[in-house]
Amino acid sequence: MIDLRSDTVTKPTAAMRRAMAEAEVGDDVYGEDPTVNRLEERAAEITGKEAALLVPSGTMGNTIAIKCLTRHGQEVICESRGHLLNYELSMTAWFSGCLIRSVDTPDGILTWDRIQPVIRPAGPHAADTGCIELENTHNMAGGTVYPPEVLREVCARAHALGLRVHLDGARIFNAAEACGASVRDLCEPADTVMFCLSKALGAPVGSMLAGPRDVIAQGRLYRKRLGGGMRQAGVLAAAGLVALEETPPKLAEDHANAKMLAEGLANMRGVRVEPAVPATNIVIFDVGATGLAAAELSARLRGRGVLINPIGPTTLRAVTHYDVSRADCRRALEEIAAALPGR
Ligand SMILES: *Cc1c(COP(=O)(O)O)cnc(C)c1O
Repeated sequence: MIDLRSDTVTKPTAAMRRAMAEAEVGDDVYGEDPTVNRLEERAAEITGKEAALLVPSGTMGNTIAIKCLTRHGQEVICESRGHLLNYELSMTAWFSGCLIRSVDTPDGILTWDRIQPVIRPAGPHAADTGCIELENTHNMAGGTVYPPEVLREVCARAHALGLRVHLDGARIFNAAEACGASVRDLCEPADTVMFCLSKALGAPVGSMLAGPRDVIAQGRLYRKRLGGGMRQAGVLAAAGLVALEETPPKLAEDHANAKMLAEGLANMRGVRVEPAVPATNIVIFDVGATGLAAAELSARLRGRGVLINPIGPTTLRAVTHYDVSRADCRRALEEIAAALPGR
């Protein structure tokens, strides 16, 4: 099976498995797991933040960040296709008691001119804005990347108004690779950042939340409340530490494979790729003009050994990662061409 459903499907490498087997561990709820402590220090260093926290999932990292940056009854500004709004079971409402004020964009990139009009002061009829959330890369917009100057401008202007910014950097390493900046530079303007070890980086489990020391200390308590206080989590952290060193240099290859997939798809009649040239490892394409529903194409492809998920009635999303090679991507294109009608 060629699995292009997500970069979450990556399996731990031999080096990760070795590190897991040999990990020095302790009870992390007591703060005594040396491998978790090392991973948290390393994540803080890479993001340029004072402290970091290992959480079981990206969803928990975002949930904790929003809780720390808001008060009950406020609003959180978020792009309308954002993961926070659409794929986290309304945790912003459920846990933080906040409403998401969503903003449409063509490309997932929230610029200040789109944010500024929806910032609300507290008043007799309106809840005030608690924080702003940005997603880099933007998953459902097709792995799009914030230009670093947009990140800097949004955060500077938000800070001037006393508003904090959370960066959903689930794929921040892909963003850094695509724009030639360091992860640290991309995280610097934001107050808190979450990134996933378990996606393109390839670790089996885990995400990191990084930010100011006091926020992370508070976040540690929310992690416990949410059931994320883990014990000998060094077994997982060990894989994360390897992933941070081993995988970033491989991401350029994933991005090149995504571009090749996009080109091949664009040459098929009735298929439209949006954006036409993927910036990172996510390819979103529309097959509406072929007359085939996305779910039907996905089912046909499964029968041909290729897994690609539909994300809308006529759209699908293919995600490249280190467990699919260039040859796999070429074969996936052949199978897609064969599965489309009239061929
Ligand atoms: C996957 C993802 C998350 C959440 O990560 P989980 O570990 O699946 O909870 C958050 N934001 C974005 C943009 C993602 O792609």
